[in-house]
Amino acid sequence: MAEICSTCGLPQEICVCEDLAREQQSVKVRIEKRRYGKIVTILEGLGNDIDIDDLCKKLKTKCATGGTKKGNTIVLQGDHIKKVKIVLGDLGFPMEVV
Ligand SMILES: [Zn+2]
Repeated sequence: MAEICSTCGLPQEICVCEDLAREQQSVKVRIEKRRYGKIVTILEGLGNDIDIDDLCKKLKTKCATGGTKKGNTIVLQGDHIKKVKIVLGDLGFPMEVV
């Protein structure tokens, strides 16, 4: 019988927890141009140690914009890389613009 990972519940051979943990060391931030020239700022790789609801609220306040949370991803309306960097910096989370 295959060993089951206690974190994700998948067999060890297809478990990606270690890869994810490595990727989640820094928050990945990128700007994406959506349809009709709409710009959004996307934060990915938010670790489980981050209170995403709280972070989303802080970002929306700081950037004075709308935003949504989807799993471990936050999408903010508009280009807010600079402010995101300040907010994450204050909270002690490293970020990486990708
Ligand atoms: Zn796993």
